[in-house]
Amino acid sequence: YVIIMTRISILDKDRCQPKKCDYLCINYCPGVRMDEDTIVIDEDTKKPLISEELCEGCGICTNRCPFDAITIINLPEAAGEPIHRFGQNQFELFGLPTLEEGTVLGLLGQNGIGKSTIMNILSGNLIPNFGDFENNPENWDAVIDFYKGSSLQKYFKDLSEGKIKTVLKPQMVDQLPKVVKGKVKDLLNNVNERDKLEFVTKELQLENVLDRKMENLSGGELQRVAIAATVLREGDFYYFDEPTSWLDVSQRLNAVKVIRSLAEEGKSVLVIEHDLATLDALSDNIHILYGQPGGYGVVSGRKGVRLGINAYINGFLSEENVRIRRNPIEFTIRPPTPEDEGDALSSYSDLNKDYGGFKLTADAGEIFYDEIVTAFGSNGIGKTTFAKLLAGVEEPTDGEVDSEVTIAYKPQYIVSNFEGSVSDFLYMNAPSFGSKIFESEIMKPLSLDDMLDKPVKGLSGGELQRLAIAATLSKDAEIYLFDEPTAFLDVEQRLIAARVIRKMVESRNAASLIVDHDIVFIDYISDRAMVFNGTPGLNGHASKPTDLRNAMNEFLGNLNITFRRDKETKRPRVNKLDSYKDREQKEKGEYYYLSD
Ligand code: ADP
Ligand code: SF4
Ligand code: SF4
Repeated sequence: YVIIMTRISILDKDRCQPKKCDYLCINYCPGVRMDEDTIVIDEDTKKPLISEELCEGCGICTNRCPFDAITIINLPEAAGEPIHRFGQNQFELFGLPTLEEGTVLGLLGQNGIGKSTIMNILSGNLIPNFGDFENNPENWDAVIDFYKGSSLQKYFKDLSEGKIKTVLKPQMVDQLPKVVKGKVKDLLNNVNERDKLEFVTKELQLENVLDRKMENLSGGELQRVAIAATVLREGDFYYFDEPTSWLDVSQRLNAVKVIRSLAEEGKSVLVIEHDLATLDALSDNIHILYGQPGGYGVVSGRKGVRLGINAYINGFLSEENVRIRRNPIEFTIRPPTPEDEGDALSSYSDLNKDYGGFKLTADAGEIFYDEIVTAFGSNGIGKTTFAKLLAGVEEPTDGEVDSEVTIAYKPQYIVSNFEGSVSDFLYMNAPSFGSKIFESEIMKPLSLDDMLDKPVKGLSGGELQRLAIAATLSKDAEIYLFDEPTAFLDVEQRLIAARVIRKMVESRNAASLIVDHDIVFIDYISDRAMVFNGTPGLNGHASKPTDLRNAMNEFLGNLNITFRRDKETKRPRVNKLDSYKDREQKEKGEYYYLSD
C-alpha cells in the first residue's frame, strides 16, 4: 500500500543549535515522552531528526525551539506526488515543468522554492528520487518510466543517453571574471557555435565592449556578455537564470528579442525572471512555483503567460484551487498630482555639473516630503551625480540647491567582501541596529533574522540586496537613494521592499529617490517620476520630477516603446513593436496607457 504523506517537517540546519538549547524539541515532544522515536539525534550532525511517520503534528517542538528551526507543514492536496527530496526534514519538490520545443517557458516563484533544483534535474545533474531519499537512484530508468506517455519521457531518455545538451546563463554574472579571463571578443568567438555573433553583438549593444577585458566590465555589461555567450552556443535546452538584473529598460527588451530568437529556431528555453513586464514579453507559457521557501515547492500546471501572471498577481491559482498570497497586488492608477502640492523637502534651480568628461544638466524642480520619486534612464547617465548634487557632496558648476539634504545611498553594485557575519555588518553599518523600530519595521519584513549568523561573503544575491536595503534605511537621512533595489529579489521581496521603504520614508518625514528598471515595480511604487536621458558616459539631462504618466510618456517616447494596461489586473504590459495597440497608442502620443 501507499502511504500518502500530507505533512512534512523541515529542520533549518543553519538555525538549529543544540549546544545552546539542550534539545528542547526532543524533551517536549509528546511522542518522545511516550517512549517513541518521534525525534532522535542524528549521530553525525548531532541535530534532531523528526520522523514524519510518528509525528502527530502537535507543533510543540516548533513552539519550544528557541531558534525557530523547525517547521511542520501541512501539504496542500494539489501538491501531488513528490519528485525529489534532498533528505529527512529537508526540502521537497513536487512536479516538474513541461518543456516544449520552440517555446520559451517562464518560471515564476519566490527564491528558495525549487527553481535551481528543477534546473539541476532538467540538465541531468540530479536524478530525482521521488521522495525516497534513502534510496537515491543510480540511473534514469525510474524517471523515464514515471513520465511514460508525457513529453518528459523522451526528454529524460535523450538526456540519459547524452543526446541532449543544456546551456546555462547563471544568475550571478559578477562571478564570471573569476572563471573567464581575457577579452570579450575572444570569449564570444570561442563559443560562436551557431554563427550568430554579429546578430547578438548588435542586438545586445556589445560593439564597444568587444575589445575590453572581462575583469573590467560593469555588472550590466557582464550580464549582456553572459546572455550573448549562452545564445551563441549550440544546444537543445537553454536555461536563463535572471537575465535582466542590471540592465536598463531597452536592454531588457533587447535581451527578450535575443532569447526569443532561440525558441524561434526550435530550441526549448526555460527562464527564471522576476521582472514581470520582461517575463510577460519573454515567455509563451509559465509555471508558477508555490509552497514554502526552504520547505517545499510545487510546480503549477502550465498556464498561458497572461493568465498565469494575472493569477500570480491575484494570489490565487484557480485550476489548483490554491491561494498563494492573502491579497492581490493592486496597481492604482494615480491621477496626475497638482504641481504645487505638498511641502518641498528639497528644491533646486536649473543645474549644471561639468566633470570635464561628463556633463549633467537638470531642470529646476522640487522633491516633497513623504514621497517616492522614481528615476529612469539608462546606466551611466548621471543619476548618481544628481543625487550627489542634492546632498551637497558635489557642488554644481552652475545653479543652486536650496537646502542641502542628508542622503543615505544604496549603490547598484553591492560589494560583499566584508569579513564577518551579517550581524557584525549591521552592527558596524546600520546605526539603528538593535532598536525596536529597526527590528519590527526593517529587519522582520526583510527577513534578516534568517541570516544574522551567516558570513556576508556567503550570502546570495537576494540576501545581499535585502541587507543593503536594510542598512540604508537604518540611517537617519532626508533622502533615501536606492539604485536598482530590485536586483535579485523575487516578486514578493520586491513588494515587501517597496512597503518597507514607503513606511520608513513616511515615519521619518523624508523622501526617496529610486532608480530602477522594473516597470511593474516602478508603477507600483512611484508617487512621481523623473526622466534621465543623454549619452551614457558623455552627457545627461534630468527632467524635473513630475507625475508618472508624463514621465513615462517622455521616457518611453524616447525609446519608441509603448505599454498598455492589462484589463483585469491593471498591470503594465509591453506592446509588441508595430502591433495594432502599439501603432494606435503612438498615434495618440500615449506611450503609457493609464486605462485600457
Ligand atoms: P549613473 O548613476 O546614472 O550610473 P553616474 O552619475 O554615476 O551615472 O555617472 C555618470 C558619468 O559621470 C559616468 O560616465 C562617470 O564615469 C562620470 N563621473 C561620475 N563621477 C565622476 C567624477 N567624480 N569625475 C569624473 N567623472 C565622473
Ligand atoms: Fe534545539 Fe531547536 Fe535544534 Fe531542537 S531544533 S535541537 S530545539 S535548536
Ligand atoms: Fe513531536 Fe511532531 Fe509534536 Fe514536534 S510536532 S513535538 S515532532 S509530535
